[in-house]
Amino acid sequence: MTFSTLGLSPKVLAAVEASGYTTPTPIQAEAIPHVLSRRDVLGIAQTGTGKTASFTLPMITLLEQGRARARMPRTLILEPTRELAAQVEENFNKYGQNHKLNVALLIGGVSFGDQEKKLDRGVDVLIATPGRLLDHCERGKLLMTGVEILVIDEADRMLDMGFIPDIERIAKLIPFTRQTLFFSATMPSEIQRLADTFLSNPVRIEVAKPATTAKTVTQRFVHTGRESFDKRETLRELIRGAVDLKNAIIFCNRKRDVAILARSLEKHGFSVGALHGDMDQRARMATLDAFKNNRLTLLVASDVAARGLDIPDVSHVFNYDIPTHADDYVHRIGRTGRAGRSGAAFTLVAPSDQKYLAAIEKLTGDGVEWIGEPATADDSAPAARRGRGSKGDETSRGGERKPRAPRSGRKPEKVADEAAESAPVAAEPVEAEVRQPKAEPAPRRQQDAPRRDRDRPARQDRRDRNEPDDKVIGLGDHVPQFLLRPVRIPSSSSS
Ligand code: AMP
Repeated sequence: MTFSTLGLSPKVLAAVEASGYTTPTPIQAEAIPHVLSRRDVLGIAQTGTGKTASFTLPMITLLEQGRARARMPRTLILEPTRELAAQVEENFNKYGQNHKLNVALLIGGVSFGDQEKKLDRGVDVLIATPGRLLDHCERGKLLMTGVEILVIDEADRMLDMGFIPDIERIAKLIPFTRQTLFFSATMPSEIQRLADTFLSNPVRIEVAKPATTAKTVTQRFVHTGRESFDKRETLRELIRGAVDLKNAIIFCNRKRDVAILARSLEKHGFSVGALHGDMDQRARMATLDAFKNNRLTLLVASDVAARGLDIPDVSHVFNYDIPTHADDYVHRIGRTGRAGRSGAAFTLVAPSDQKYLAAIEKLTGDGVEWIGEPATADDSAPAARRGRGSKGDETSRGGERKPRAPRSGRKPEKVADEAAESAPVAAEPVEAEVRQPKAEPAPRRQQDAPRRDRDRPARQDRRDRNEPDDKVIGLGDHVPQFLLRPVRIPSSSSS
């Protein structure tokens, strides 16, 4: 099968050829002819299957007829995150290189003024996150009545992020006669209900979901102590010992640890960037760009910031924290070993991580291979203080030579080094910023945010930054001063 049999226009085919792709992926082969014949499509596929081109290529072909009018976009693509929206824009730039398409990106963290200027010039393709799109509609700068094609991408992620009411509002603004393309990696009942409402007699296309982790990825687990300086040391040893490390993503469970870990690695001389939802949009894009273009070797990231990002060719993944959802493990290690390449994934396991480890084993069905000795639940001693594992120097099954196992004893100067390391990291501004992350205003508030934004609850702001609600237990990190005051206990009265 080649692209030329799918009905795409010569200009689009030339752009596909220039990009080096010769064979359509299954979702492209199935979806493209239906999109071109103006059918609604329900695509059940996840990122990595080539689904983006399955709608961008036929859309560009269809857009060759007609032209855009001011403030009336001809097509609309809804994405859950700013990064995914930017990736779709890149797709249009790549495959639309032989066209004069006006593509506009409406995402949070970018000024309204520039976006409005673009809308005024007339837009063929509007790519947006739901919140920002509604903000523009409320400002009266956008008319949705000219939209011929609506794409709802990553619908299940939209559901996770609480965007479904926004999507329903947006869909009501678009003519019923539109063509709708709806993509989701999974089809829970709520998404099915949405698909039933939005789609008219759709073609259903389902492409295989990688049920387990790719066999091209060598997976290893390593026991570590529970303290963060233990974990940081274990991680550094893994990185230094990794064979053929070209670049790596290091995952943390909490965004505050992303900043701390990146600082620490930088101090230890690594080329490293951080990606988390509290960074402004410009900084996120700059970091991502530096990583994609090999100007940074390591990228420390949270799940939400990194999910769905198309970063081809990552040689290593490190789970600094074991993911608390086994699904996230599959997503994370899926960042490496793509397109048949080999990759390696290392997961640090602290003594209290047993239940998460069990869930990963159950989901992937793979046995866990350890570097050094396995972690046990009652094991409270940090790995670096314990004995070297029995298999520490072996070569692994996947050909990846195992990095050095954590050392058997701590040298006194190392302990001092760690104390020095952990102290400044904890005391540096990053920690202060971490303690009160909400004190720093979100980027969209610094700019010309509309009233709707100012009135929004904090939960909505977190959603705009694509971060889940932080689960704060009790008082979290903050202990009010009055609770720290000594309590005077009155002498017992004789009764
Ligand atoms: P997506 O699922 O859209 O995120 O695409 C995943 C990756 O596959 C991206 O890096 C695309 O550039 C790449 N890709 C898309 N279509 C093809 C194709 N026909 N052949 C090879 N790679 C492709």
